[in-house]
Amino acid sequence: MPAGPSLPHNPSIRRWQVKANPANYPEQLTEKESGLFWMKVNKAGPWPLQKNCQGKCWTWTAGRVNEGYGRFYLRGGKPLAHRLSYVLRNGSVGDELKIDHLCRNRSCVNPDHLEPVTDAVNTRRGRLPLVAGKSMLARTHCPRGHLLNAPNLRADDVKHGRRGCLSCARARSKYHDFKRRGIILDPDDFRRVSDAFYREIMGPEALETP
Ligand SMILES: [Zn+2]
Ligand SMILES: [Zn+2]
Repeated sequence: MPAGPSLPHNPSIRRWQVKANPANYPEQLTEKESGLFWMKVNKAGPWPLQKNCQGKCWTWTAGRVNEGYGRFYLRGGKPLAHRLSYVLRNGSVGDELKIDHLCRNRSCVNPDHLEPVTDAVNTRRGRLPLVAGKSMLARTHCPRGHLLNAPNLRADDVKHGRRGCLSCARARSKYHDFKRRGIILDPDDFRRVSDAFYREIMGPEALETP
């Protein structure tokens, strides 16, 4: 198998994620592991909105991390499904490289939609506006329905090419404050708190529209 492209190490590139542990990304799976991996993949789409993508997205149907990337339990580790899919096709990738989704669909594991990039490139791309599709192609709202647009974006996430809900992040820190004082917010309380932050950030009418 051809080795993945190697770029000179650039210490000025900030790592926003824990480095990928190469041990979690074998170039080959046993037949059984391979069966378990691919049974979690739905190759039937959706079609990516981006023109430079060949074929449909291959959707990871099993567990995902918060950011929307698929996770696969393998040999005691938890590799990212898309990165593993890329390594299985193309061979090992240096841990200084991230695997970027050309299709902008983080749950996609189609190797044709993936390419290794430096953090810097990934961040630049992440800053480009995402196109909102009918499907999961772009994350436009957080799980609580808050719009993922400025100013409701965590500054740290924007810097690193991700899109996290600022309102929910503030509610989470509130949750931990309360927890330290022995008070546990239930999900309804959490929603009320995060909605309150959302109105504070986006304006009082922010949640009124249907
Ligand atoms: Zn895709
Ligand atoms: Zn939110």
